[in-house]
Amino acid sequence: MKEILGGKGANLAEMKNLGINVPPGFTITTEVCDLYYKSKKTITGEVKKQIDNKLKELEKKMRKNLGDANDPLLVSVRSGAAASMPGMMDTILNLGLNDKSVVGLSEKTKNPRFAWDSYRRLIQMFGSVVMEMEHSDFEHILEKVKDTKGAKYDTDLTTEDLQQIVKEYKAKIKKVKGVDFPQDPIKQMYSSINAVFGSWNNYRAIRYREINNIKGLIGTAVNIQAMVFGNLGETSGTGVCFTRNPSTGEAKFYGEYLMNAQGEDVVAGIRTPLPVSSLQKQNPKIYKELITICNKVEKHYRDMQDMEFTIQDGELYILQARNGKRTAHAAVRIAVEMVTEKVLTKEQAILRIDPNQLNQLLHKQFNPVALNKAEAVAMGLPASPGAAVGEIVFTAADAFEKTKKGLDVILVRTETSPEDIDGMHSAKGILTARGGMTSHAAVVARGMGTCCVAGCADLIINEKAKTLTIKGGSIVLKEGAFISLDGSTGKVYVGKINTEDPTLSGSFGKLMSWADDIRKIGVRTNADTPVDAAVARKFGAEGIGLCRTEHMFFEGDRIKAVREMILASDLPSREKALAKLLPYQRNDFVELFRTMEGFPVTVRLLDPPLHEFLPKEKKDIEELNKEMKVPVKTLMDKISDLHEFNPMLGHRGCRLAITFPEIYDMQTRAIIEAAIEVTTKGPANKRVKNIQPEIMIPLVATTKEFSILKERIVNIVEAKMKEAGVKIAYKVGTMIEVPRAALVADKIVAAGAEFFSFGTNDLTQMGAGLSRDDSGKFLKEYVQQNIFEYDPFESLDQEGVGELIRIAIKKGRSVKKDLKVGICGEHGGEPKTVEFCHREGFTYVSCSPFRVPIARLAGAQAVIKERSKK
Ligand code: PEP
Ligand code: MG
Repeated sequence: MKEILGGKGANLAEMKNLGINVPPGFTITTEVCDLYYKSKKTITGEVKKQIDNKLKELEKKMRKNLGDANDPLLVSVRSGAAASMPGMMDTILNLGLNDKSVVGLSEKTKNPRFAWDSYRRLIQMFGSVVMEMEHSDFEHILEKVKDTKGAKYDTDLTTEDLQQIVKEYKAKIKKVKGVDFPQDPIKQMYSSINAVFGSWNNYRAIRYREINNIKGLIGTAVNIQAMVFGNLGETSGTGVCFTRNPSTGEAKFYGEYLMNAQGEDVVAGIRTPLPVSSLQKQNPKIYKELITICNKVEKHYRDMQDMEFTIQDGELYILQARNGKRTAHAAVRIAVEMVTEKVLTKEQAILRIDPNQLNQLLHKQFNPVALNKAEAVAMGLPASPGAAVGEIVFTAADAFEKTKKGLDVILVRTETSPEDIDGMHSAKGILTARGGMTSHAAVVARGMGTCCVAGCADLIINEKAKTLTIKGGSIVLKEGAFISLDGSTGKVYVGKINTEDPTLSGSFGKLMSWADDIRKIGVRTNADTPVDAAVARKFGAEGIGLCRTEHMFFEGDRIKAVREMILASDLPSREKALAKLLPYQRNDFVELFRTMEGFPVTVRLLDPPLHEFLPKEKKDIEELNKEMKVPVKTLMDKISDLHEFNPMLGHRGCRLAITFPEIYDMQTRAIIEAAIEVTTKGPANKRVKNIQPEIMIPLVATTKEFSILKERIVNIVEAKMKEAGVKIAYKVGTMIEVPRAALVADKIVAAGAEFFSFGTNDLTQMGAGLSRDDSGKFLKEYVQQNIFEYDPFESLDQEGVGELIRIAIKKGRSVKKDLKVGICGEHGGEPKTVEFCHREGFTYVSCSPFRVPIARLAGAQAVIKERSKK
């Protein structure tokens, strides 16, 4: 019904059916809006006939005629699409007033001030909405009259003042538009209907639909409804109420109202509204009636309602009821409490929560009042949620140093690179000018739970001069200036905005435990450090699905040994450098295994091209020359030697190990030695039981690559276990991230792969031919034009890349029925992708720690949705 009548129209009809007093009216359907656009923006004869008939019925019911000179019927003309688009489309109130009926209304209500104020409001609304005049044309006149009469508020204006305003408004229309304000109420009505249909495609409505991903609607409906007035005197009033508190979720009736006022007075803030609890004293009968209706409507919709009401001369009307917008905190509490109240089942409560909304609960947030007052100066991609405030720095080293001194910093970079890891770790937030949702900055920040805004094209960063220029030069910030980042919206603010800590309420825990009972798919985490792993455990991760070992290579002194290894000219010196790295790696794994308490830990062997470990800038190369005593020329030659035109398709992943197998040899040793250590050394009660190391080879494209490397790994592991006299249940598997691997998946399993983990970042890059680092520039446009429904790096392209996955699973399981299958690309924590993974029989999804609860909830929702289809 909503599709045809729009949300508002369907809702009004439903309330009427519940026996609730709503002002009579009728709805022109969204199909008419569609027809309007198909008929060159005209209302066709047949539709006109029907509207005229419905108006006659309404007039009969109200025993008043539109525009009647003695006792006029007044109507509102309001938009209402199937999806809520608050404030985006047009509304006209008090329609039906003209020079004659305003006199009739004055006499009939014995309230000329009210009549002239209503007329004044109609002309102003009609003038700006229908006749497209500037809002300021009217505001100037209103302010001028208020000034000359010494009126502080609109309510201080007398009938005569309002009559003068009406006169001046009409003159202004004539002057600007060359036509009169229409006196014919039918003409007023049709022009208004046209305007509402037209507003479906105004710029802000189109943008709203784009931003909120509202698709597939044919247009807006138009609701024509008899006006009721809250400003007829002290027995009239108007207000808004929520059946529960929308910010805390407390089951307590909440709202505000004003006597002798119209709706806009409540929201405009000119007079301070009273809490709805005072209505209980002021008018207990109406209050009781309102509470009864609220309970009835909430029960009917089984959700918290946001309602508008008007009291006209002691009679209560409900103008609108809709599911109320709420904070994530309130959403969870309401859903959980409604289960206790037996209004919802656990399954329904789980479906109520948008998994992405949980982000709000898990991260620091801006204080909503402070945020409301702030104005964003730039906007990038909401790459990693949360709120961050700090002074800007332009290098990772500065971020590290300043943080050590106790300062809060935001690291501002054109783009980040793996060398920046320490600075990224210490910064409160990260802001980059380039890169998409899977850029280095975005992936690493999400993993660390650090707020990040990426790809903010409004920024010009001068790292040398240490300046940040925003908005085409109008704002220039130097190092040390404060900015605030909202990683959930991508907005950047100048100055400090107060933040609030996340509060994980009892309701949250309850909801998650229900979700876990229902969920079938496992949820692991992508974590490279014990700190991240511990956070993920707290959020309910059931293992590590991806530990990117390269991140361990950058910390502290290790980078020196890594560089020594890269610069080594022969095998013995390479092995010497790797031997220095071994104890570091072993320690890393010891801690990871301990933190994960026996849950599976998938360690991915080294993946990135080696040039990423060498400096780029001349000054850094010179520094390295001093530090390592290697001539600058040798360094430059090595860098140039490692340079690749297409490094993402170059010498990386398992290809590194095919040419330099000693790198993976060292990593394998570190893994198995760590596993032996945590299971056999130390006091018995501290030993990790049921350890499950999973060694994962990246970027495999061919069966041979896999079998060559697996053989080396197994030889090392078996030898180590034999030496220690220990047996550990380890697995060796592969990432599936090159399309070729998906197509020969059966052969890779036959060659001994014991698990698959889909690296959907690379699989999307190579499968759809989209650069992970550069496609952000045009993908937005692709989504706007509906070429992709969603950014394929955010939500898996289920049709294309998804087909590669389906093929790989089918082929893989044709050889090994119980093949473990996971996903570790950024998609692993995205609800639609989690649902896909559940449907395709994945063993688990793996995502950054802060997305673990999102994946747990999405996994449960996938089961419930599947059951409801059966
Ligand atoms: C992937 O490609 O999806 C993946 C997880 O690996 P990375 O992002 O490190 O390339
Ligand atoms: Mg990859």
